[in-house]
Amino acid sequence: APSSASAASAPSVELVKLSRSFGGVAALDGLDLTVDPGTLMCLLGPSGCGKTTALRIIAGLEHGDGGEVRVGGQDIARVPANKRDMGMVFQSYSLFPNLDALDNVAFGLRMRGWGAAKRRTRAGELLELVGLAAHAEKYTHQMSGGQQQRVALARALAIEPRVLLLDEPLSALDAVVRVQLREEIRSLQTRLGITTVFVTHDQEEALSVADQVAVMRAGRLEQCAAPADVYADPATAFVAEFIGTMNRLPGTLAADGQTVEVAGRRLVVREAGQRSGQRSGQRSGGEVAVLIRPEAVRFEPSEDGAATVRLAGFRGPITRITAVLPDGTEVLSDVPSASAGELVPGRRASVVLEDAPVMVV
Ligand code: ATP
Repeated sequence: APSSASAASAPSVELVKLSRSFGGVAALDGLDLTVDPGTLMCLLGPSGCGKTTALRIIAGLEHGDGGEVRVGGQDIARVPANKRDMGMVFQSYSLFPNLDALDNVAFGLRMRGWGAAKRRTRAGELLELVGLAAHAEKYTHQMSGGQQQRVALARALAIEPRVLLLDEPLSALDAVVRVQLREEIRSLQTRLGITTVFVTHDQEEALSVADQVAVMRAGRLEQCAAPADVYADPATAFVAEFIGTMNRLPGTLAADGQTVEVAGRRLVVREAGQRSGQRSGQRSGGEVAVLIRPEAVRFEPSEDGAATVRLAGFRGPITRITAVLPDGTEVLSDVPSASAGELVPGRRASVVLEDAPVMVV
């Protein structure tokens, strides 16, 4: 199998107070981020939060106004894009239409002065790595989108890059191919041990492929953590609501800010942002919104319940029940499908919340 940067030699990538403005608008506003050697970091965030700008600055296709990019501890500001040893895959397939798959993969090697025979051997190995050995002679118009992205990936890896940069590489593909290819990218990345930065706005994609997820907002880092931690222990209300689904229920915060009353229950308030220091922790009592995951909500069928079931969305093992409270607030609950039978639209139910700390906003 072709070798690439092995985990032992893979560099870290660090962004240090990276800034970039376009016409007075800050695309990046002091972004700090460390990608550990050989790991896959997803940059995740809403449209316009600066993900692509960050990636392009790492690649050298764009310059920062301030801050540094360090690869393996070295500031690479003076290294031009074509000397950075980075492989890149974009959303649009961006293959050369006049070259077949093999020559597309071999292209970067030609630029590096590899001889024809060596190039073809290496390109063939890479096509095999991405499962396209049988398609070496195909041109772009003869390949599916997924196949073209595999070729683009093989091309990016052919030069044995120190760092792999992926900018929404799966966004143009249909759902099935997308899931398949993301799993392949992940297994390839793990096998090669290549330090990888993967930009996506798709949270499910980020959670499923990344070692670490960097949730960005307005050019800054909201939280960087393992997928399970970003989901279960969001550092900010923004992260809590951006990742997965959240209920936002009206509640009353106690004067000491420690507990909140919501749907007839008193729950402990979780100190969001304690780790990141982004929240003051000082809140006065009063009306608040309480963030609760659908899996922490249960509906009990009851004639005098406050909620009315509106929808029962079957999703295989679970069914997502949507109910409304008298004030119009929607409440979502994920219920094992086996026990969702009674929760049909029109049924009244009482809302039961799991006794776990919640975030308030
Ligand atoms: P998306 O998911 O929509 O691609 P993103 O998170 O990748 O968004 P960027 O593309 O990095 O965001 O853009 C961040 C901000 O910088 C946006 O407000 C965008 O309009 C602006 N921007 C980016 N590139 C340029 C440019 N070349 N000229 C002017 N403004 C730009």
